[in-house]
Amino acid sequence: MKAFSFQTSEGYTQIGVEYQESLYNFSLAWELYKQLKNRGKGPELSFLQIMVETDFFHLDTFQEVLFALRGARSMDDLRISSEIHFLPPINRPQKILCIGRNYKSHAEELGNAAPEEPIFFCKSPSALIGHGQEIRLPQKSSRVDHEGELAIVIGKSGSHIAARDALDYIAGYSLLNDITARDLQKRDQEAGRPWFRAKSFDTFCPFGPFLVPRESVDDHTDLEIKVEVNGELRQKGVTSQMIFDIPHLIAYLSEYCTLEPGDIIATGTPSGVGPLNSGDVVELSVLELGTLRNTVV
Ligand code: ZN
Repeated sequence: MKAFSFQTSEGYTQIGVEYQESLYNFSLAWELYKQLKNRGKGPELSFLQIMVETDFFHLDTFQEVLFALRGARSMDDLRISSEIHFLPPINRPQKILCIGRNYKSHAEELGNAAPEEPIFFCKSPSALIGHGQEIRLPQKSSRVDHEGELAIVIGKSGSHIAARDALDYIAGYSLLNDITARDLQKRDQEAGRPWFRAKSFDTFCPFGPFLVPRESVDDHTDLEIKVEVNGELRQKGVTSQMIFDIPHLIAYLSEYCTLEPGDIIATGTPSGVGPLNSGDVVELSVLELGTLRNTVV
């Protein structure tokens, strides 16, 4: 089961779901389900972020709603048939936390040692774009790189989370391309400054297309990440190669700041990062999570 946010032809935001190889409008399905069950007071689910914040973002919810409706009526009018305009699955996260150098091979390719504890930094939420939207090269940089990463979306608030409990705090998994102005990052690093600006230009955070409920991912330690540019393989790695695994990252981050529902954590990139040029098509994929495709202009 894969969920997504999309914009209707009338300009409204809705939740969609991929179910048995078809796409359905889940926001509409939810309204019909509430009528069917006489649950008129349930929340209105137009944004995936609201679904996460209200603790409805679970495989169970999707299954229950779709099974109940399928038993009661035809689903044909809920099918999404036209071309979809995807939006970032989470549109207004409180924070986007990223992990630097979490794959040894990537640390080495940029001449860095593997870290002894996680390195984390932020990207601005205003950099978010969805699947199919354009990455714009800024004039202030002459070297912009792709960094394909597995992303986690937090499902419940927590601080000082124990690693053994950490998976309970995940709502779902997605894909995030941590676009980086490498020249600015290097200049700021050498000057001992934070590298926030190099990570936060508008459009530097392609995210999606899907948010996949935690319960639908069998093994988060065995996801193969691939990045292709114009069909040519650039990055390849498996999440088992992370220096700090997901429970450790959540525990570590939550020692410093409270994690909130909707927060996004990008878990680091494998080796093979490289430059993007105008006209390039960059595709980040994980079999279980889909393909995030963006064109560079
Ligand atoms: Zn990164």
